[in-house]
Amino acid sequence: MTGGHSSSAFVDAHCHVDLFPHPALIVEQAEAHRIYTIAVTNAPSVFEHTARLASASKYVRPALGLHPELVHSHKHELDQFRRYLPQTRYIGEVGLDYTTLDQDIRSQQRQILATIASWANDAGDKVLTLHSRRAVSDTLEVLKGIKARMILHWFTGTYKELDRAIAEGFFFSVNGAMMQSAKGRGLVARMPKDRVLTETDGPFVKDGNSPATPSTVKVTVAHLAGLWELPPANVQARVLDNLRDVLVGTPL
Ligand SMILES: [Zn+2]
Repeated sequence: MTGGHSSSAFVDAHCHVDLFPHPALIVEQAEAHRIYTIAVTNAPSVFEHTARLASASKYVRPALGLHPELVHSHKHELDQFRRYLPQTRYIGEVGLDYTTLDQDIRSQQRQILATIASWANDAGDKVLTLHSRRAVSDTLEVLKGIKARMILHWFTGTYKELDRAIAEGFFFSVNGAMMQSAKGRGLVARMPKDRVLTETDGPFVKDGNSPATPSTVKVTVAHLAGLWELPPANVQARVLDNLRDVLVGTPL
């Protein structure tokens, strides 16, 4: 029997379910292993497909996204974004990516993020999963004062930027790749335990030689258990509680 104690569920707060060769198998896995999975998307035009995949699932939550690296080519989909917005509580992947040195593209990214954030603010109950590569300061700046729950996914900024994000109430979703470097582990160790969620960023992050799938969060729970010197079951329960905090008490 499944069901049982809610503490036995896991969390994958950022997974690109639609980008696996067989997304339905990923949804099945999330159900079988009881992994609450935020299925982020990279463009509004693929949201419906992901929402359909998740429609029969208790654990997989479709998220509406516009990836910063696609803003330049897909900004015309913003109307679609607005139309789909009432259909889900989850927004992502959105954010800024300053890998590009093109100031015009960076500025477009900021405008799009500001627009999406203002819609989220008006809706009042949205949860954002955010990309902030080389752009943490501007990401925090754009999101200042926005009423929404914010999760910084795969944080790679500085300690100073991390401290600012903590002070501003952000949550953090951490993955296996972060645990592979001393810098990543240092950042995770500095995050308050009540702000940490697990994620895979599958299929982009690997688990050994294969793409990470939602059940890979079990490995990250074990890493956190080592880092926090807590039993894995406590870490798992803590992460699930943190997801409940993100949802402000709405039952999972
Ligand atoms: Zn991602």
